[in-house]
Amino acid sequence: MQKAKFVKSAVWPKDYPDGGRPEIALVGRSNAGKSSLLNAMVGPVKIAKTSATPGKTRLINFFDIGEHYRCVDLPGYGWAARNETERTMWNDMITQYFTIRENLLGIILVCDVRREWTEDEDMILDLARQRDTRMRCVLTKIDKLSRAEMQTQKALWLKTSGQPEEFFKYVSVLKKTGVKEFEDYVFKNWVKEI
Ligand code: GDP
Repeated sequence: MQKAKFVKSAVWPKDYPDGGRPEIALVGRSNAGKSSLLNAMVGPVKIAKTSATPGKTRLINFFDIGEHYRCVDLPGYGWAARNETERTMWNDMITQYFTIRENLLGIILVCDVRREWTEDEDMILDLARQRDTRMRCVLTKIDKLSRAEMQTQKALWLKTSGQPEEFFKYVSVLKKTGVKEFEDYVFKNWVKEI
């Protein structure tokens, strides 16, 4: 595990930190387990507290990881809980980050393994494609499923997303399964490559 240091929070590009390090962005539906995964990958980091209450500003949090790269924690999506204003703001924040940020190295989409691929995930995939950037989807909370249920869910994710098997990574933060492997995967295949 590499040392993580909170850099800053921002909403719009004018407040982003300098773009000197390659950035790996994490995005997912609220409650998917994104913060837990980030903490498991880089250790507990102190960040500006943001409230999940609608109407409160959601922030993009930037963390330097070791000497080489940065993780960017993007605000979670979950359309049902949002009003139109919030939805537009979330959309603008994410779209601006993805389109403007030159040092974006890759996108990690975090999803609860018990769900399935939806239009929301398609939207993130479209943004990744527009940027022609790397992307992987981490399916979390695999400890919640039996072996048989896992097989069913794996097949469902492949079918609903149309993505190849290597697109998906499976982790349990609770049981510490797959987290180290995923971290190594990202470091060796994305960070080391540049
Ligand atoms: P975020 O909103 O995407 O940042 O989600 P959190 O990281 O806050 O996680 C949402 C809930 O899922 C919390 O109660 C976590 O403890 C739980 N959670 C996260 N990862 C796992 C996991 O791998 N297994 C289990 N059983 N629970 C998890």
